[in-house]
Amino acid sequence: MLTINEIFYSIQGESTRAGQPCVFVRLTACDLRCTWCDTPYAFDEGHKQSVDEVLEAVERHNCPLVEITGGEPLLQEDVYDLMNRLLARGRTVMLETGGHRPIDRVPVDVVKIVDIKCPGSGEADSNHWANLDRLSPHDEVKFVVADRADYEFAREVIERRDLASRCAAVLVSPVHGVIDARVLSEWLLADRMPVRLQLQLHKYIWPPSMRGV
Ligand code: SF4
Repeated sequence: MLTINEIFYSIQGESTRAGQPCVFVRLTACDLRCTWCDTPYAFDEGHKQSVDEVLEAVERHNCPLVEITGGEPLLQEDVYDLMNRLLARGRTVMLETGGHRPIDRVPVDVVKIVDIKCPGSGEADSNHWANLDRLSPHDEVKFVVADRADYEFAREVIERRDLASRCAAVLVSPVHGVIDARVLSEWLLADRMPVRLQLQLHKYIWPPSMRGV
C-alpha cells in the first residue's frame, strides 16, 4: 500500500522536461522541514491506495511521462514496486527526492531529480552526499537558492564535485517570491556556471499556491 496525497495531470514545471504534459503522483509524508517548502500539505494529508489502484489512476491520464514526488517518496517501501511497474508499462518515470535518503534501490531507468539542500533550507545537514556517487548520466541535480549564501554553497558543491559532467543537468532554482530570478541569473552568468536556471513554470501559469497543477 501507498499513502497518496494527490494524483493529477499537469504541465511539468521543473527539470529538463519543463513544459511537457506529465502525470504527477504525490506521496504523503516527509521527514524534512525545509523553510521554503511549497507542499507542506503533503506532510500528513493522504489516503491509502494499493499500487494497482495508483497504476489505474495514472493510466486514466494516458500520458507517457510520470513523476513521482512528495513529500519524500522514498519513505514508502512500495514506491519501488510502483516505479518498476510504471517502467514495465513503458512510461518515462521521474523521481523527485529531497536528497537525504539513499537512491541506491531506485531502478536505474528512473530519471532521478536529486535535491542538494542549501543552508537557507535549514536542512543542509541532512544531505546524503553518497547519492552524488550514484547518479546516472540521465539524472539531474537541483539546488533551490534563497540568497547569496545559498548560491555560494551551490557553486562550491557544483565545482568541487564536477557535477555538470556527471549528470544530465544541474538545475538552480530561485525560491519563488524570495529571490529575484534576475539576480540569480546574473550571479550564474558572472561565474559562467555550467547549469540550467530553473523557474517553477507552474507557478507562472497558475496561482503559486494552487494545488493539483
Ligand atoms: S524535502 Fe521537499 S517535501 Fe520535504 S520539506 Fe523539503 S521541500 Fe518540503
